[in-house]
Amino acid sequence: MHISHRQHFFDHLAQTSEYPLALEIEKAEGIYMYSPDGKSYMDLISGIAVSNVGHRHPKVLAAVHEQLDKHMHLLVYGEYVQSAQVQLAKALTKTLNLQSPHPSPYGLINNVYFTNSGTEAVEGAMKLAKRFTGRDGFVSCFNAYHGATQGALSLAGAEFFKRNFRPLLPGVTHINHGYLPDLERITDKTAAVVIEVIGGESGVRVPSEDYFPALRHKCTEVGALLIFDEIQTGYGRTGSFWAFEQFGIYPDILLSAKGMGGGMPIGAFMASQEIMAVFKNNPILGHITTFGGHPVSCASSLAALQVTLEEDLPGSAIQKGALFKSLLVHPAIKEFRGRGLMLAAEMQSFEKLKHTIDRCIERGLVTDWFLFCDNAMRIAPPLIISETQIREACEIILAVLNEA
Ligand code: PMP
Repeated sequence: MHISHRQHFFDHLAQTSEYPLALEIEKAEGIYMYSPDGKSYMDLISGIAVSNVGHRHPKVLAAVHEQLDKHMHLLVYGEYVQSAQVQLAKALTKTLNLQSPHPSPYGLINNVYFTNSGTEAVEGAMKLAKRFTGRDGFVSCFNAYHGATQGALSLAGAEFFKRNFRPLLPGVTHINHGYLPDLERITDKTAAVVIEVIGGESGVRVPSEDYFPALRHKCTEVGALLIFDEIQTGYGRTGSFWAFEQFGIYPDILLSAKGMGGGMPIGAFMASQEIMAVFKNNPILGHITTFGGHPVSCASSLAALQVTLEEDLPGSAIQKGALFKSLLVHPAIKEFRGRGLMLAAEMQSFEKLKHTIDRCIERGLVTDWFLFCDNAMRIAPPLIISETQIREACEIILAVLNEA
């Protein structure tokens, strides 16, 4: 007989809101999750941009099992030669061997530092930028989310999120994502600009074509590093392996996590060897982690990377995103934004959206809103979703919208 864990969830797990979803999920496969009573839920948010290759992709499972049979943790980061880490770093740098009309002055990204999570990738990159430039100023965007630890939180662009955790890092300046006049705020005091290529938690914001070349130029001009946070966009979600490929520019430091792990926890900050080398001295061991680049996570991540390329998930994300857009036409949807399968359907109010999301979940379709945009529906399914499944999902959403 099944024992529900629901009450113990409330009794013993730290709660971070009065209104958790509290959906009990026992199994997941492909784009579906299953409650203990066997009810299925279509996952339209991929655990927030994580399950890009679907839940429990067979090639990811095989890679994980194979690594488990070899070894798990051996030693803190950076000492032993571990094949899972080396192979993943090599494969990642291969995806970054790209020519660009707006390159980094420091050359191609060919070095990877593995972390456990997105926020740790942000922290490591911030330290790297300070150490490399000898500066301590950062520029980030209003309504951006880069993580919950105190350095990453300092970058967050919403005051209500930070107010009660001060003091945070000084010297953070905010700009409006995609707004050219604000580039003036990037100066010779700026260690780095930390920016999402497509704003995620702001509700999927795609800047105009001229924005990133101008940003790249400004950073190079004043000697600030350009850090792209591709933690939410990475591994194919937006229609290219990395979102920045669509804008013809190249960053100095690239951040990844979430979907990169194929369902396992991992993150990375990546840069050229010239930049990364500063962690070797003054002080020695400039950045330390025990579990960063866990071999099982690396094996899972490498399999996810291979699946993404072999199944051309970026290419299919473009077609699938276009299908969502063509199907989700309804007077309640005021605007439809996004690239690939990183999509937002904006409605007139939070109340309308909340009602829609609640009814969708009742009908077995899980969707969500955004941290800093509470009137837009997040549509970010596993990239392996089929055309039939997309049609099914859209039918549910449209039926719910028609109810009200
Ligand atoms: N950057 C971006 C753009 C994110 O979307 C997130 C997570 N939502 C993070 C950083 C932080 O990642 P993590 O939760 O793994 O620390």
